[in-house]
Amino acid sequence: MSSIRLLSKQLASQIAAGEVVERPASVVKELLENAVDAGGTHVLCEIRNAGKVLIRVRDNGSGIVKEDLPLALAPHATSKISSVEDLAAITTLGFRGEALASIASVSKLVLTSKTADEENAYSVSVEGPEQNPTVKPAAHPTGTTVDVGELFFNTPARRRFLKSDRTEFARIKDIFTRIALAHPDVGFEFISDSKTVTRVSPAKGEGIDLRRTTTLIGAEFGVQGMRVICEDPNLRIEGMILPPPREEEALSEKIYIFLNGRPLADKVVTHALKEGFFEVLGKTLPIRCVLYMEIDPAKVDVNVHPRKDEVRFHETTLIHDLIVDSIVYALRKNGIGSYQQMV
Ligand code: ADP
Ligand code: MG
Repeated sequence: MSSIRLLSKQLASQIAAGEVVERPASVVKELLENAVDAGGTHVLCEIRNAGKVLIRVRDNGSGIVKEDLPLALAPHATSKISSVEDLAAITTLGFRGEALASIASVSKLVLTSKTADEENAYSVSVEGPEQNPTVKPAAHPTGTTVDVGELFFNTPARRRFLKSDRTEFARIKDIFTRIALAHPDVGFEFISDSKTVTRVSPAKGEGIDLRRTTTLIGAEFGVQGMRVICEDPNLRIEGMILPPPREEEALSEKIYIFLNGRPLADKVVTHALKEGFFEVLGKTLPIRCVLYMEIDPAKVDVNVHPRKDEVRFHETTLIHDLIVDSIVYALRKNGIGSYQQMV
């Protein structure tokens, strides 16, 4: 007897959703990225019960035209790329066109939007997969709001897998912080259970806005931060590192790396950072840094990892070594490490 069968579309979409939507923080990430891609100047992220009851992201960006609203929730529907060539030089954060569809299949989702050219706002709502959402008039200024209610209401196994509110909140806050840091030109606000957690305006002036940065990641960066600069034609870096903690200080690592505006958790970069510190200090200590890196988009592949936080550099060794050198230079310039440790 044959035992292989095709999954129903419903089940297939919920399984696919699992790859994008692991927990509330992954929803927050996708929605914040969409808000940034939409080119707004202000993004609001509001959650209830650590995102388990509600995740709402509102922006004042481009909006979505009425007839595109149902399409935005369809799998593999994106306005951001249209050809294989586009993949080679992606400038937006999204491009797979699967986030909203995945989120919609495991939540009660309402998408409300208005473009500058339209007189009225419209909304679509869906509960779970396989729906033909109807478009209804709504009230909304230019921009978009996505409400994600009762995440995993129809996938109990996933819901049970969620951690405590405290843990899920911490993950959301971390994602929010990384995305807000990644986009200095945008104002961000984070509200949890009706309380404002963080609020930053767009950065002022050239380079790193110290006040904005310290609001997001801690006053110590304002007090002890050492500048890291790289002006190579292959790689531009602007950032700050903190001096290594004294050994009795049990500080956790805080690594914030951004590549072309995208938060990055890349092994090559992290390895280079550690090597830079090791070269000067002769030992491995928790690293605390914020680094903005710019590289020609044609020299890096971003679509290697479904969650998009890993990349592949075309010239890995070159990039790695430039990072090591920049860290070593910054540390030595600030009198960290001794010459005995060099030899
Ligand atoms: P992707 O971001 O990979 O294109 P998504 O599923 O996240 O895929 O979004 C699908 C489409 O919906 C986007 O390509 C975009 O056209 C539209 N969209 C989603 N969120 C917003 C938003 N906040 N503002 C404007 N358009 C949006
Ligand atoms: Mg997206």
